[in-house]
Amino acid sequence: MTYFNKTIDMTKKYVEQLKADGIATVIASEKGENVKRTKKESNKSSNVDEGLKKLSAIVRTCKKCHLSASRKNAVFGEGNPKAELMFVGEGPGFDEDQKGRPFIGRAGKLLDEIITQPKSLGLKREDVFIANIVKCHPMIDPSHPDNRGNDRPPNPEEISTCIPYLEKQIELIKPKIICALGSVAAKTLIGMDIPIGKLRGKFYDYKGIKLIPTYHPAALLRNPNWKVETWEDIKKIKAELKKQKEL
Ligand code: URA
Ligand code: SF4
Repeated sequence: MTYFNKTIDMTKKYVEQLKADGIATVIASEKGENVKRTKKESNKSSNVDEGLKKLSAIVRTCKKCHLSASRKNAVFGEGNPKAELMFVGEGPGFDEDQKGRPFIGRAGKLLDEIITQPKSLGLKREDVFIANIVKCHPMIDPSHPDNRGNDRPPNPEEISTCIPYLEKQIELIKPKIICALGSVAAKTLIGMDIPIGKLRGKFYDYKGIKLIPTYHPAALLRNPNWKVETWEDIKKIKAELKKQKEL
């Protein structure tokens, strides 16, 4: 091998290494000179931002299941890409479908209180990440998408089609704790068909992340007496977040 060929060979290896290290664009001349880092993607949080943006663009135009036909907007989810705490609901309702944002209706107002009240978690909505099991509004009557009260839970087929998006969101955000809101989120993420009243209030393992189910805020609006147990669950989340900070 000539000196010249050897240099090219070494340069190619170097370029490969840079790519493996996450350097997105490398300009290298054939002579093996001017190897430039034009964009260094070592900043983890900008990688997460970018990953979430790309995923959100895919979700917004997704037609993988029939829920796309009646939706007004897919609801990707929103919040801090570096959130330590992630809430996962069931799926968008009427208000969420109209605006393309999660938990902005009546149940959302209650979730906001759970997040922000000083005696509760004392966080800001922007501190956490809020997502759903399915990203499009499951409707009882899809021919009337503008009717309120047309909500139903997603079925197993819709869940299994959509779940890779949530899995990817969790993989990117890497929260310390996931709070599954209600039966659909809890059963899907834990993989056990046990009533929410039995599942709630305990930590489970979700791919190395602590997951705790509690009642869905919409269920709390129907059964305000369940707020007592929800409060117990939220206190556990608060204590666990504190513990994680001390580690
Ligand atoms: N219920 C949910 O499960 N998710 C929302 O985004 C709104 C209501
Ligand atoms: Fe795609 Fe999920 Fe919407 Fe179905 S519910 S169309 S899988 S984003």
